[in-house]
This record gives sequence, structure tokens and C-alpha cells, in this order.
Amino acid sequence: MSNLNNTPGNKAQKVAAVKGMNDILPPDSARWEWLEDKVRRLMAQYAYRNMRTPIVEPTALFVRGLGEVTDIVEKEMYSFEDRLNGEQLTLRPEATAGVVRAVVEHSMLYDGGKRLYYMGPMFRHERPQRGRYRQFHQIGAEALGFPGAEADAELILLATALWRELGLQDVRLELNSLGQPAERKAHRAALIGYLEQRTDQLDEEARRRLHSNPLRILDTKNPGMQALVEAAPKLIDFLGEESLRHFDRVKAILDANGVAWWVNPRLVRGMDYYNLTVFEFVTDRLGSQGTICGGGRYDYLIEQIGGKPAPAVGWALGVERVLELIKEQEASAPDVAADAYAIVPEADTVPQVMAVLQQLRSCGVSVQMHAPTTSGDGMGSMKSQFKKADASGCRYALIFGADELGRGAVTVKALRDGEGGQVERPLDAVAQWAGSLQSAR
Ligand code: ATP
Ligand code: MG
Repeated sequence: MSNLNNTPGNKAQKVAAVKGMNDILPPDSARWEWLEDKVRRLMAQYAYRNMRTPIVEPTALFVRGLGEVTDIVEKEMYSFEDRLNGEQLTLRPEATAGVVRAVVEHSMLYDGGKRLYYMGPMFRHERPQRGRYRQFHQIGAEALGFPGAEADAELILLATALWRELGLQDVRLELNSLGQPAERKAHRAALIGYLEQRTDQLDEEARRRLHSNPLRILDTKNPGMQALVEAAPKLIDFLGEESLRHFDRVKAILDANGVAWWVNPRLVRGMDYYNLTVFEFVTDRLGSQGTICGGGRYDYLIEQIGGKPAPAVGWALGVERVLELIKEQEASAPDVAADAYAIVPEADTVPQVMAVLQQLRSCGVSVQMHAPTTSGDGMGSMKSQFKKADASGCRYALIFGADELGRGAVTVKALRDGEGGQVERPLDAVAQWAGSLQSAR
């Protein structure tokens, strides 16, 4: 507290944001809104409905849901005790556990399956770097109550439709199947046996996980261990007929829809809750933070969180990484400027002008009115207002000179080259003009 104190006469010290937590400011925020709009529209097309859960959840939800021996639970959670009642709480590191909690708490599966999506901030205490932050944002889709491979495939198709919509290229779909618990158990025993004979080649983390979570060792980023994990027993060789059939069906639906996939037998995902299909969308354009989206089936999570057993599958994408990729390939940048910039030479006409602007906006046109940024008298010179209008990126300037207003008119001036010059229009015709701009969009 003390370094925030301010004594009169002393300039207050600046307060900086928490490391790894970013402000999202204009003009960048326009990209965020553009992406969110696209997501909302697409989710509606696939009949996924929006869901909003709290950012803070009981710590036990994540420990039970994600698994004790996972990166997130072991070292990445922002956990704290509620000072007032001693409850153990955590800022959500991901949203699936919270969605499942809410689905169970509100008996949402009583009348069949549910297709849901969410967007929002997540928190993980990681080392901040490009594509990896402590507060980051995910958009996720979940289909709960559907056991069949068509739910897995639908979610993958939904994600690929989103990449198309956003203009993303070079995104690769990697698939794997983790099978069912009994199959994993047999593989686990074989894997532990294999690794136990080679403990001298394991790093410290792998040694620690050898008996608690050996599957995660396959996911290691340690280059010195690549050859070892490459040759390790593969889970896919332990899958029974039913698991393989589920996996084949997912692949067949993707094939029928022209979606290319690669099986990556080492894809295991970070959370314990997955079974059968797991997948990631990966790009080579973002360095080592190349996974933009990951997901899979989690048929046992609902039960683990205290609900009546029900199957489920879902994915989550990292918004920062997707936007980074869009920037990287300079795809589809949104237009952030308003349609028109209102120039008001005489300060005393402001009330009248603002009433006109309200009308224009109700016709669907976006208007930015000039306003002085330092106090003084009036709105500033015409020249300085025009300078601001030019810099705004707006397509048109609306000049509300006192003379024009007196005649019940306004001057419309095109600000971009080759879009015509300057015309005076009666005020009641401007609304019509604004409407035509809107319909031409
Ligand atoms: P990684 O292996 O990169 O740590 P993860 O397996 O922990 O990813 P998930 O928990 O599957 O990631 O989250 C889904 C997506 O959320 C990731 O594919 C990524 O795009 C994004 N994501 C995860 N952690 C971060 C983070 N700290 N900062 C930014 N985006 C993240
Ligand atoms: Mg991680």
C-alpha cells in the first residue's frame, strides 16, 4: 500500500500493470471486437449458445478437474484465501471446469445435450513472452451430452470454419486418440517400464513425473529427450476396437468435409481430463507458441465434478495467438475509423449540431464529433479541425458552418482521394445520404 500513498505537493507515483497482464487499447481493440463479432455469428450458425461463468472459482474445482500433477495445478494457478471467510479460491486458468460446474449446478443436461461457447480472460502464472501471458483470453466451444464422433468432428469443423472466416492460413490440424482409461492404464504400465530402464536419460521433471503422470513426459519440450520419447511405447497401439472405431469416424467425417489432418501420436494435452479424441491447431509462424487452439473429448470430467456421468467434448483457442497470427500474415484488418468527422466552427452551434448527429447515428452512420482537447474558448480553428479530420481516417467530413446551418444544410466533403469533392446537402437529405452509405457497406 505504502508506495501508492501520496502526500500533498508530491507527484503521485505511477502504477504499472501487473507483469504479463496487458491493456488492450485502440486501435488494437478493434481487431478484438472484429474477431468476437465473427465468433458470435459463427457460433450462432452452428447453434452454440453463449455461457458466462465467474472468473473466480473454488480452488478444489481445478485441482479435481484438471488433475493434481499438471503444469497448471502444480505451478500456474493464481490461488488465494478469501480474507473474509477463509475460502480457497483461484482465478480460472481455463474455463471448461467452470462450464462443467455450472452445467451440473443448473442441471442443464436434464433435457439432452447442450452446445455452448464462452469468451473471456484466463490466468496462469507463466513466464511472459510472445504468445504467452499471465492474463490471456480464450474463446471456447463445448458440446456436452453427445457421445458420438460427430460431436468431435462438428467442433473441429467449427474451428476450421473460424480460421477460414478470419483469413488464417497455414494452420495444421493434429489429431490423436487417448483411448479409454483401461487402455491408458495398460499403456502407462508399458511406458513406465520403458522409462524406468532409461532413468539416466530423464530430466528432473520427467523423473518426478515418472510414476505420477508419465504420459506428460511424452509432451516434453526438452530437446535432449526427443529421441527417447520418439521410441517410447505409443498409446495408439494400446487402443481397443471401440476406441479405434470412434477415432476412424472422426477422421472419416473430416475427410468428407475436406479437412486435412495429421495424426500426432505424442499429442497428449495438458489436462488429465481428456479421453478418446484430442486435437490441436498448430502454426509454424508463431515460433514456439504455435498452438492456437486445443481440445478433445472429456467424458469423465462431469462425473469427477460431481455430476451425473455424461460425455463431452470441446476446444479452446488463445485469442492473443490468433490475433498475432492474423497480424503476422496481414490478413483482413478491420477498419477502425468512423464514417464521418463532424467539424463545428462555431461553438454556439454545438447543441444544434449534436442533435443532427444523433439523427445520423440512428440511420446507422458512425460519426466522430470534433471536440477540443484542451480547455479554451470554442472548438478551435477550421484549419486545426480539418487536420484532426484528416488524421481520423474517416471517409467524410461534415462541415456544420453557421452559414450552412442557417440555410438548413451541411457541407459533406470526401476525405479520401478519388471519392468526389465537396457538396452542400440539405439537413433532411443528409439522413438519406447516411442511409445510402449504410446500405452500400
Ligand atoms: P501451451 O502448451 O502453449 O502452454 P496449453 O496446452 O497450456 O498451451 P491450453 O490449456 O490447451 O494450452 O489452452 C488452449 C489455448 O490457449 C492454447 O492453445 C493457447 O493458444 C492458449 N494459451 C494457453 N496458455 C496461454 C498463455 N499463457 N498465454 C496466451 N495464450 C495461452
Ligand atoms: Mg500451458
